[in-house]
Amino acid sequence: MGEFDLIARYFKRPVRRAALGVGDDCALLAPRAGHQLAISSDMLVAGRHFFPEVDPRALGHKSLAVNLSDLAACGARPLAFTLALALPEVKQRWLAAFADGLFALADAHHCELIGGDTTAGPLNICITIFGEVPVVDGRSQALLRSGAKAGDDLYVSGTLGDARLALGALLGQASLPAEVLAKARQRLERPTPRVALGLALRGVASAAIDVSDGLLGDLGHILECSTVGATVEVDIAASLIAASAYSESVGGQFLINLPEPQRRRLVLCGGDDYELLFTAPATARAAVQAAAQASQTPVTRIGQIDAAPGLRLIDRQRQALPNSYASFDHFA
Ligand code: ADP
Ligand code: MG
Repeated sequence: MGEFDLIARYFKRPVRRAALGVGDDCALLAPRAGHQLAISSDMLVAGRHFFPEVDPRALGHKSLAVNLSDLAACGARPLAFTLALALPEVKQRWLAAFADGLFALADAHHCELIGGDTTAGPLNICITIFGEVPVVDGRSQALLRSGAKAGDDLYVSGTLGDARLALGALLGQASLPAEVLAKARQRLERPTPRVALGLALRGVASAAIDVSDGLLGDLGHILECSTVGATVEVDIAASLIAASAYSESVGGQFLINLPEPQRRRLVLCGGDDYELLFTAPATARAAVQAAAQASQTPVTRIGQIDAAPGLRLIDRQRQALPNSYASFDHFA
C-alpha cells in the first residue's frame, strides 16, 4: 500500500464544518464571524511519550486527547485538526485501530481531520488542532495563563496522580494489583480532555492551564505569566488520587494505604493527567460549581493565589511543607 492509498483509506473522510478537507495542498477553514481561531500542536514520540507496543486504538485516542486538552485549557471549541504521521512500516491492522481510536474521540467532539502529512520514519504523531473562541465587545473570551489575581481561588478538575501511578507500574518501579493497574492505565492511555468544562469556565475562570507535566510545574506557568504566587493545600490535592474508585475493586483501601509522601509526590509531580488547573475570584464560587455541574466534571478547590511571588505548600494543619518537588522537563 502506497502513501496516497494509505491516506485515502484511513484518513480521508468528508468534512462538514471545514470548507475543504484532505486532498488538496491546503485545507480551508471558514471561521465564524466574531470568533478567533485557537491553534495548538502536540507531538507524541514513540519511546518518549508512549510505549511503542501500546494499544493503537488507545494511542489514536491519546494523540487527539492531548490536543483537545489544550483547547479546553483555553476555553476553545474544537473545530478541526491536521495529522502528521511518521510510520516505520505500513501495518494495516495497526492503522485501522489507530484511526478508529482517533476518529471515535474526534467525532465525540465534532472535530474534523482536514489534512496532514505521512512519511516513513520512527513512529511519531504530531497533531495540530484548531478551535474557536468568541470575541465579545472586542474582548477575546479565551482563558489564558496570565489572568490570575491575588485572592483568587485555585481549582483542579477530576483526579490527579493516577496516570503517573500506572506509568510507575509499567516501568517496573512499583507493583500494583492488576485491577488497580487496569484502572490507572486507563487514565494514562485514554485521558479525558476537559473540553466541556473549559467552555463552561469562559467568563468565570480568571486563568487556566491543562496539567500535562505535573500540577506544581504547570501551576508555575500560571504564576509566572500572571506575576503572582500561590498557596497549595497539599493534602486536599493528595486526596484526588482516584482512591475511592479503586478501593471497591481491591476490597478496601489499597490507595488510601499508599504512604503519604508517595501520594503527595504522585499528585504534585505526576504528569499526563490532562485535568484543568484554573483560578477564579472568590465571588465566582457558585459560578464555578455551576460550570462543574453543567459539564459533569468534578472540581476541587486546592488553594489560592497570593500577591507574594513564589509557591507555598501547606499540609492539613496548614503547616508549611518544604517544596522539593520537580516537574517533568524533557531537557532537564
Ligand atoms: P503535499 O505533498 O502537497 O504536502 P501530500 O501529498 O503530503 O501533500 O498530502 C496529500 C493530501 O493528503 C493533503 O491534502 C494532505 O493534507 C493530506 N494528508 C497527508 N497525510 C495525512 C494524514 N496523515 N492525515 C490526513 N490527511 C493527510
Ligand atoms: Mg506532504
